[in-house]
Amino acid sequence: MYSNFQKHLSQELQNIESAGLYKRERVITTSQQATIKVSTGQEVLNFCANNYLGLSNNKVLIEAAKDALDKRGFGMSSVRFICGTQDLHIELEKKIAEFFGTEDSILYAACFDANGGVFEPLLSEEDAIISDSLNHASIIDGVRLCKAQRYRYANANMEELEECLKVAQAQRFRLIVTDGVFSMDGNVAPLDKIYKLAEKYNAMVMVDESHSAGVVGQTGRGTTELYDLRGKVEIITGTLGKSFGGAIGGFTTGKKEIISLLRQRSRPYLFSNSIPPMVAAAGIAMFDMMSKTNELQDKLHSNTDYFVKKMKAAGFDIKPTQSAICAVMLYDAKLSQQFASRMLEEGIYVTGFYFPVVPKEQARIRVQISAGHEPEHLDKCIAAFTKVGKELGVIK
Ligand SMILES: *Cc1c(COP(=O)(O)O)cnc(C)c1O
Repeated sequence: MYSNFQKHLSQELQNIESAGLYKRERVITTSQQATIKVSTGQEVLNFCANNYLGLSNNKVLIEAAKDALDKRGFGMSSVRFICGTQDLHIELEKKIAEFFGTEDSILYAACFDANGGVFEPLLSEEDAIISDSLNHASIIDGVRLCKAQRYRYANANMEELEECLKVAQAQRFRLIVTDGVFSMDGNVAPLDKIYKLAEKYNAMVMVDESHSAGVVGQTGRGTTELYDLRGKVEIITGTLGKSFGGAIGGFTTGKKEIISLLRQRSRPYLFSNSIPPMVAAAGIAMFDMMSKTNELQDKLHSNTDYFVKKMKAAGFDIKPTQSAICAVMLYDAKLSQQFASRMLEEGIYVTGFYFPVVPKEQARIRVQISAGHEPEHLDKCIAAFTKVGKELGVIK
């Protein structure tokens, strides 16, 4: 049996390879930080991690994790409702709710699980989910697992959302779901307009703050801070794997009845292990730090402003961004790959994206700015962009 299947798989792999879509992993031999070493021995400046606040190797988080490792052990060997809940898990859930100005929170192993487990327990055939077309894969999968009627609107297109809402008046409950920041362009969802439409058409709102938490809003509280909607949106999901330390873990936070029902019925919560005590402890330390100082958010915002300003002045075409994601538009797929590999030779690690990850003729280099970047890192990156840009005829 396997020999036929093996042939089939080899063919599939070949197809991926010949379409130029085969993903190869670059091996890093240091901790995740601004300056990393890769397995070839080359030292590069990292501009493609989701390490927005530079917390992936933060001393305070590491110490908190080590302390919990000593005092609370390595793992829980249990789901939450059997014997997998320590006081640390409860405390972290409280901190998350405080941070977002919500009523209660529930932890998952990842935001992929939070999104996978949020729709099915809450909504049924009689209900409607209205989803932005550029929403994260985990939202798409979560929606697939739910029996609610599905509607989709073009990215951030409020006319289309309104049309969906009109049609969805036929259903019992309506939930609009959107990413807070869309990861390919760095644009923020128009949550103010979404919320107004939700009020007008009697719908609820869910926002996935994975790329916006820690980043968007003056204190990094996400899109609900930016649009002055704290406590209003019914459901927020997010990750501990990006701004918040970068280890592992996800959460859903929002109205308390929603969270309570998820604890009873959400399958990735009921049937998957608790996060390790050290991750919970580091998360608590991280939220404590953020409640005391806004230093990292301020630094991230000034780094991003500086980078965008200088890149525009150098003549690059930058997508409007309100996040730490900066899309340097090149349009041509091959050019984007060529550009990214030249940048690596210059010691700057950035990623080139092209179809089908982004629309056709919309190839780009995505740069992710971090509070872990120092001014000299940004200057080195801008200088490399300018050099390679001139070399490849992108700028004059
Ligand atoms: C990264 C991301 C996720 C997945 O988060 P994990 O915790 O890594 O599973 C979910 N949604 C969005 C919008 C993301 O960007």
